Amino acid sequence: MTTYTHEQVRSLVDGKLDRDTTLRMLSMPKDPDRFEKYLDALQRKLDWAERIVLPLGPHLYIVQLIETRKWVIKCGCGHEFCGWRENWKLHANLYVRQTEEEMAQVYPKLMAPDTPWQVYREYYCPSCASMHDIEAFTPWYPVIHDFEPDIDVFYKEWVNLPLPERVD
Ligand code: ZN
Repeated sequence: MTTYTHEQVRSLVDGKLDRDTTLRMLSMPKDPDRFEKYLDALQRKLDWAERIVLPLGPHLYIVQLIETRKWVIKCGCGHEFCGWRENWKLHANLYVRQTEEEMAQVYPKLMAPDTPWQVYREYYCPSCASMHDIEAFTPWYPVIHDFEPDIDVFYKEWVNLPLPERVD
C-alpha cells in the first residue's frame, strides 16, 4: 500500500496536487494514519489552538475546548457556533433567496427554480461571513440537522485512535 507523507496530504488539502495524483490518492485504499495526517494538515491552517475532533465542512469543525474539554462547533475564523450535538445552522446568519430577482443573481435567465416551490437558504458565519451550507427546499420545509456522526465509533473502529476527551 502506498503511504503518503504529511507534505503530500497537506498539498491534497490545499488543492495543490495535479489532477492525476489527486485522483490516485482519493481512489486508493487509505494508509492507516491518513485521518491523523489530514487533521494535522487542517490544524496547521488555523490560527487557534483548539484540537479538531472532526471536520464538518471546508471551514467548519467539531473541536475540543482546551480548558473545559467541551466539544463545540467552530468556524475556521474562530467563531464558536454551539455545542457539538446542536444544529449549528440555528446559530448562523441566514439569507433566504426567495424572489425571482434574488435567483437571477446566481442563475442565468429562465434557468432558476420557481420560488413559490423552491427557495435557497444560505447559512453564513456571523463573524467572517463564510458560507457553510446551502439548503434548497420548498419554502415551508424545516431547517435540516444534516450530520450527526457517531464519533466514538469512528475513532474506535474506523481510524483506531483514542477518542479526544469530552466533557458534556
Ligand atoms: Zn467564521
